[in-house]
Amino acid sequence: MTSSASSIIHDVYEAAVTRNAGEPEFHQAMWEVLESVEAVIEQHPEYAEAAILDRLVEPERQIMFRVPWVDDAGRVQVNRGFRVQFNSALGPYKGGLRFHPSVNLGIIKFLGFEQILKNALTGQGIGGAKGGADFDPHGRSDAEVMRFSQSFMSELYRHLGEHTDVPAGDIGVGGREIGYLFGQYRRLTNRHESGMFTGKSVLWGGAEVRTEATGYGAVFFLEEMLAMRKDGIDGRTAVVSGSGNVAIYAIDKVQQLGGRAITASDSSGYIVDEAGIDVELLKQVKEVERGRISSYADRRAGARFIADGRVWDVAGDLALPCATQNELNGSDAATLIGNGVVAVAEGANMPCTPEAVHAFRDAGVLFGPGKAANAGGVATSALEMSQNASRQRWDFESSEEKLHAIMRDVHHSAYAASEKYGHPGDYVVGANCAGFVRVADAMLAQGLI
Ligand code: GLU
Repeated sequence: MTSSASSIIHDVYEAAVTRNAGEPEFHQAMWEVLESVEAVIEQHPEYAEAAILDRLVEPERQIMFRVPWVDDAGRVQVNRGFRVQFNSALGPYKGGLRFHPSVNLGIIKFLGFEQILKNALTGQGIGGAKGGADFDPHGRSDAEVMRFSQSFMSELYRHLGEHTDVPAGDIGVGGREIGYLFGQYRRLTNRHESGMFTGKSVLWGGAEVRTEATGYGAVFFLEEMLAMRKDGIDGRTAVVSGSGNVAIYAIDKVQQLGGRAITASDSSGYIVDEAGIDVELLKQVKEVERGRISSYADRRAGARFIADGRVWDVAGDLALPCATQNELNGSDAATLIGNGVVAVAEGANMPCTPEAVHAFRDAGVLFGPGKAANAGGVATSALEMSQNASRQRWDFESSEEKLHAIMRDVHHSAYAASEKYGHPGDYVVGANCAGFVRVADAMLAQGLI
């Protein structure tokens, strides 16, 4: 007798939890996918026969390594580096590097796992991976960041390459870090291999719009969801968390489209600016000065800084969590719903807890999960890879138009799959099923590997 889809899914999950003990974020990301694809497993017995799910939750390769470096005081520091090459059925491994003290194997696995279906959804022929280190760039000098990055790349370089594995940035890895990492790769390999890293400076192979892409893309996705209800961004207020490049450019795009983004945050607290965030000032504080968000409020009349409390207490029509995983919980969701939120789009990876996602769904709030809503970043990375391979450079306007078209397509694929698999308008189910079917079919076709 063949097992039911539900029991297959539970068995895969239980086995993976046992095998990956102590990795709650990975378990959470895995369960969200597994419970979403039940209808697909029912309709495709061949996936279970080929153990597609069992293989999907096991990374193809995991690399962990020591990263020793010397700080400015001459002391030896030791960090741990990671690269989890999760799935390359659709293309070379692709996904960012995160430098943050919270980084551990479970967090990198959750991010790498998310990346498989996210990348599939972009339709750009890229596999899924993630990496990083438990290094904290905050408060470190440029020279320290350089020495750390060089040591990190001295191990990782042998696992990378334009046809093998192509990293990019994530939290704590921006233009400065990418420069040092790319420089060390070039030195070690004697190759100026532009296509081995994305998010590069436009001076040496980077793509226009890559910096803006995740934030812009999240707002394009939001626009598509709202359009399904004959609604839009014009005249709406948005509550945004974070103040990295995802948040900054989500705020920017909301305002370009006639909305008003009134908050931003960092680990020290959040700011409220009812007039609408001044994007140039926010960039100055966070990107140029690498300062604290309170200094935005110090310099802007009418803005206030709140050190304790939740940014989600601020009322708005739209919510864009753009900071980090599990930053918006069930009680935050209840507050937002009470304040009349209409739509939520995840700019960060898995910022909403499962309780929050269920609360939005039950309240009929439009909800765009990260693997669809924030896919614009990695999609533009794929555009960067295309330009590198063909030695072309596309201008800002045409690059933004390509990003916009990809986000419309991601929305369309997710919506169509939500209907096909019996949950119309549920973008969690839709994004997971649409991405999963692409990866599963590629894995089936390529045999048991
Ligand atoms: N770190 C980004 C993400 O979460 C971008 C990855 C990339 O461009 O490779 O999708």
